[in-house]
Amino acid sequence: MIPIIDSKRQYATIGAEIEKAVCEVLRSGSYILGPNVKALEAELAKYIGCNYTVGLNSGTDALHIALRALDIGVGDEVITTAFTFVATTESIEIVGATPVFFFFFPDTFNIDADKIENLITPRTKAIMPVHLYGQPCDMDKIMDIAKRHNLYVIEDCCQAIGAKYKGQNVGTFGDIGCYSFYPTKNLGGMGDGGLITVNSENLKNRIIALRNHGGAIRYHHDEVGVNSRLDEIQAAILRVKLNYIDEWNNSRRNHALTYNELLADCTDIQTPKELADTHCVYHQYTVKIPNRDEIHKMLQESGIGAMLYYPIPLHMQKVHAHLGYKMGDLPITEKNTEMVISLPMFPELTLEEQKTVASTLISCIEKSKALV
Ligand SMILES: *Cc1c(COP(=O)(O)O)cnc(C)c1O
Repeated sequence: MIPIIDSKRQYATIGAEIEKAVCEVLRSGSYILGPNVKALEAELAKYIGCNYTVGLNSGTDALHIALRALDIGVGDEVITTAFTFVATTESIEIVGATPVFFFFFPDTFNIDADKIENLITPRTKAIMPVHLYGQPCDMDKIMDIAKRHNLYVIEDCCQAIGAKYKGQNVGTFGDIGCYSFYPTKNLGGMGDGGLITVNSENLKNRIIALRNHGGAIRYHHDEVGVNSRLDEIQAAILRVKLNYIDEWNNSRRNHALTYNELLADCTDIQTPKELADTHCVYHQYTVKIPNRDEIHKMLQESGIGAMLYYPIPLHMQKVHAHLGYKMGDLPITEKNTEMVISLPMFPELTLEEQKTVASTLISCIEKSKALV
């Protein structure tokens, strides 16, 4: 059995350090928004290269708090992708705004920046690019369009910590960047957690207030906020893991190159492409194949933990039915949704395992062709 991700293997390498850090928190008596959260926020601002970061309860909270902080709400439109995790578009619905779905670049799974302008209306307030699978979007084009049309940009970096576009970390191009520390993310806690990156001091102060019941001063509430405080145990764990993130991301990149080589001879498999001048961190290694559902089943039966991210495009989800999209409206998204499959990817994956994954995938494809 080769799982899609094996968190236990990572724990085996750094468990002692984590246990020490967690025990220190337990003994400290400070459990929420304490010294570890403060230190983590400073360390991540330095690592990512922004003025401020704000620790939160989840990536989902980061996204909707970002929208709130920019006063995006009822009547406003946010241009984003239908090929992402639901939290991206759910956050737009949470604040009462309307997601407007764009096409995406068939090669990189990201947005096709050239198509954004067709979707801009007088109600458009923001663009929300998603650096899906750890692949940076074409930020030059997106920022150029945003500037010309006076739109905010909120980057969904939940799968992309450490990913760079032209040498600069994602989450530092737009007005706000949103990160997740969900356990399976490249930098994952052992519980929920999230983070906002921001350069504007005013926005930072508003976000700090929104995360804690709408007030910067205790028991003074200026607006309706939420409880989205990051806890000390998660922050302490993340501080330990942050020391390893570049090493882990580099392992992922090497694994991606290895998969590319192992799969190169099979013309039925489209391996992931990288945009020029990007540093991808391969949260997922996702290929496109024909007969995907059948092959997915065969892989599972062979003990390969391949997964479908994501099996239903968001414009076809019940939660967004009220937007009135129908099948056929986003043909590239729909076609890709039918073809994608993500293969096992985590830093501790071995070459032997990668060879098994690749040869099994190729033989499943051959078998499925023979059946037709
Ligand atoms: C994981 C993820 C989120 C949500 O993060 P949570 O911490 O699980 O709330 C949002 N967007 C994308 C693209 C994600 O992968």
